[in-house]
Amino acid sequence: MEDIQPIIARREVTTRILQAFHLRADKNLGQNFLVEESVVSHIAKATELTPEDTVLEIGPGIGTLTQALAMTGASVVSVELDKRLIPVLQETVGAYKNVRIVQGDILKVNIPEIIESVKANCKDTEAGNKTDRTVAENVKTISGKPETEDVAQMNRSNIELSEKKAVSGIPFKVCANLPYYITTPIIMYLLEQKLPLERLVVMVQKEVAERMIAQPGGRDYGAISVAMQYYTEPKIAFIVKAGSFLPAPKVDSAVLVCKRRTVPPVDVPNEKTFFKVVAAAFSVRRKMLTNSLKNMGGLTSEQVKAWLERAGIDGKRRAETLSLEEFAALARTWKAN
Ligand code: SAM
Repeated sequence: MEDIQPIIARREVTTRILQAFHLRADKNLGQNFLVEESVVSHIAKATELTPEDTVLEIGPGIGTLTQALAMTGASVVSVELDKRLIPVLQETVGAYKNVRIVQGDILKVNIPEIIESVKANCKDTEAGNKTDRTVAENVKTISGKPETEDVAQMNRSNIELSEKKAVSGIPFKVCANLPYYITTPIIMYLLEQKLPLERLVVMVQKEVAERMIAQPGGRDYGAISVAMQYYTEPKIAFIVKAGSFLPAPKVDSAVLVCKRRTVPPVDVPNEKTFFKVVAAAFSVRRKMLTNSLKNMGGLTSEQVKAWLERAGIDGKRRAETLSLEEFAALARTWKAN
């Protein structure tokens, strides 16, 4: 892939755009805008996009990462909750024919529906970098001027999208600098739905990324590590210093690259039971399994003891020492009585 050089990802450009639209970053929405060009292009590259791909971006903000994604030629659909940012995005990335902006909450929009619509829209259009000059000019002359016919049309059709849930088969990737206040709910929401999601590249707080890749035996290992490793192969691609954002958050971040597994890593006949066992085991993480597993539906000590024997696991152990395979063994041998 050619070198991507997004122009919005600069401190002075971001400041100028925010000033032009009389906007301030909203802390309640986790708005920390990326202002480091190299970080933005590395995230886009880590997503491994080709013009045949479709990528879902969560929280485009003022279009910083959106621009880098557009430049790969992939079909891009970006979901932004903050209504104030829609006119900004029309100016900054509206000229890219392969970008679609949807105003809404990522936890509520119908993901398969928007993926399908962006694919249909982009089918006959040219790769994003063909419109670079227009975008560069827009960013340079940004002033909040009235929307053009094209942008107005894009906006109307975007806002008409419904918020129903459905399932569709078009494979897609996710790339996002996630709002920190709902990082884990968003990732779990994406993974738990049976969506054809192939790759997830997300910027999260460094500590959260460390918990997601943690192995049994350490303090970082918990229910979220088990879930992430059950659904994906998560890796930390690189660390991003707090100074790469405007405003700078209190802590450093990490870019997590997660390849979606096509086959689960362990044999689990019932996923719901598996995750119930994991939740019960970690519900009181300092306690031994003989105690914590009682939370799996009010079991007696005798019932838990018999269950642990069936699974071949020592009841004196704590949840944080159990591998995915051992949680799976507990799920396989669990009986409701
Ligand atoms: N992508 C931009 C960047 O890298 O500079 C902005 C990232 S900022 C950390 C997170 C973005 O997510 C903000 O623009 C915020 O408004 C948006 N956001 C917050 N909650 C959201 C939600 N539930 N659904 C969609 N977007 C959301």
